Amino acid sequence: MIELSHIVKRFGTHTVLNDISITLAEGTVSALVGPSGGGKSTLLRCVNLLEIPTSGTIRLGDERLEFTPDRKVGWQAIQKLRRQTGMVFQNFQLFPHQTAIGNVMEGLVTVLKWPAARARARALELLEKVGMAHKADAWPATLSGGQQQRVAIARALAPSPRVLLCDEPTSALDPELAEEVVEVLSRLAREGTTMIMATHDLRLASRVADHVIFLDGGVVVESGPPKTIFSTPERERTKRFIASLS
Ligand code: ATP
Ligand code: MG
Repeated sequence: MIELSHIVKRFGTHTVLNDISITLAEGTVSALVGPSGGGKSTLLRCVNLLEIPTSGTIRLGDERLEFTPDRKVGWQAIQKLRRQTGMVFQNFQLFPHQTAIGNVMEGLVTVLKWPAARARARALELLEKVGMAHKADAWPATLSGGQQQRVAIARALAPSPRVLLCDEPTSALDPELAEEVVEVLSRLAREGTTMIMATHDLRLASRVADHVIFLDGGVVVESGPPKTIFSTPERERTKRFIASLS
C-alpha cells in the first residue's frame, strides 16, 4: 500500500500542493494528469523526496514518514524511503560515461554494494525485459531516445523498488519511439509493477493506468478509472481540460 496523506508543499509563500491525499494499491498504475503547473512533477518528487513535503505523511509499505514544517526529517530516514522508489525522467538522464548495462548496474554496485557479477546478471535480466539486451554495451549517445528511456526504466527497476515513478516518460519522444516506451510500461503494468506516472499523453494514461488523478492548482479535482475521467468527467474543470486536448 502506498499512502500519501495531507501532503502540502510550499515554495516560500507559494502553495504548490494543497492537502493531497491518495491511496494506491500495490500492483496498480496511477496516472497524474492536468494542466501545466498543476503540481504533477512536484507530487512525484515529493514521493521520492527529491522535494521534502512541507507537511503530511508518506507511507510506502512498511516505511512511514511524517513531515511537519518545524521538524527536519533525518537523512537516513529519507534514504530509507527513497530506496523504495525508482524514478524515470522525461529526458532519460542516463550517465553518459557508462554503457547501457553500466547504467543499470551503477546503483546496485555503488549504493547497494552488490558484487559486480551479481549486478551484471540482474542488469542483463532487466535489459532483456525492456528489449535492450542486444545494446547492453552501447553508449547512451549512440541510442535513440526510446532506447535510452528503456534503459532508464531498467535502471530505475534494478533495486526492485516498491513503486516506479515516471515523470512524462514519453513526452521527449516522437510518436514511434514513444510507442516503444508505452509498450514496455504496459508490459510492466500487466506484470504487476506499481507505478505512478505524470503524463500529458492521454493515450498512455488510458492504455496503462488503472486510475487517473486529475490535478489542478495543487489539488485533486477528480479521480477515477481512465474511461470515466476521459469520457464522462463530472467536474467542469476536468471537462474543460479534456476538451482542450481533443
Ligand atoms: P508540467 O505539466 O508543466 O510538467 P506540473 O504539473 O508538473 O507541470 P510542477 O512542475 O509540479 O507542475 O509545478 C507546480 C508549480 O510549482 C508551478 O507553479 C511551479 O512554478 C512551482 N515549482 C515547482 N518547483 C519549484 C521550485 N523548486 N521552486 C519554486 N516553485 C516551484
Ligand atoms: Mg511536470
